[in-house]
Amino acid sequence: MASVQLVDEVPARALAVYAHPDDVEVACGGTLARWVRAGCAVHLVVVCQGDKGSTDPAADLAGLAATRAAEVAAAAEVLGLASHRLLGIPDGEVEVTPQLVGDLVAVVRAVQAQVVVAPDPTALLFGRRYVNHRDHRVVGAAAIDAVAPAAAMPHYFPDRGPAWSVAELWLSGTLEPDTHVDVEPVLAVKAAALACHRTQVDLPGELLRSVVEQRAEDAGRAAGVRYAESFRRMLLA
Ligand SMILES: [Zn+2]
Repeated sequence: MASVQLVDEVPARALAVYAHPDDVEVACGGTLARWVRAGCAVHLVVVCQGDKGSTDPAADLAGLAATRAAEVAAAAEVLGLASHRLLGIPDGEVEVTPQLVGDLVAVVRAVQAQVVVAPDPTALLFGRRYVNHRDHRVVGAAAIDAVAPAAAMPHYFPDRGPAWSVAELWLSGTLEPDTHVDVEPVLAVKAAALACHRTQVDLPGELLRSVVEQRAEDAGRAAGVRYAESFRRMLLA
């Protein structure tokens, strides 16, 4: 595909906005780890609690949410994130509200993100096997609304900081990838960050690493490298 690009540029400041506590590692943990190692300040917003991420009908949801918040902190440390914030919305209950968009605008402006990374809200069905979680789609839509045009326009959420124009949106979990990042040097970091989410990945280290490798290999094939992560990239400025 002629339009597919392998991108090596690193922004100075980036913000990742994801729904569930472990989404960011799965979607773009390697890319963010690479950017951090190149000097980028990477910030994270996790919108939902992850309180329903259990197959146990008797699970203590508040307890699970608290455990998962600690897992986010541990994974953020492994990735080397500059900050992480939890908005604490229960799973399955997130909506694109002025409150949520305003909260995201406040973070975009506060950290002066050059790049915002978020789920592609247009991706609903992946082949015949995977229906994209509603929370991912809603959070992706809210992130986009926060970036374009809200954060850039002073009359949107005027009490949430001075206007800031985000230069690029990188959308993960997309059906239309056009941008790849070579994550071979940081694949072990991605696996280690994912392993922090113990409530979700109950796999021995070796197996977890091979799952991460498998996914990255699939993306890498399209990019002509061994391991990659894929995005749809919007150039806004
Ligand atoms: Zn998720």
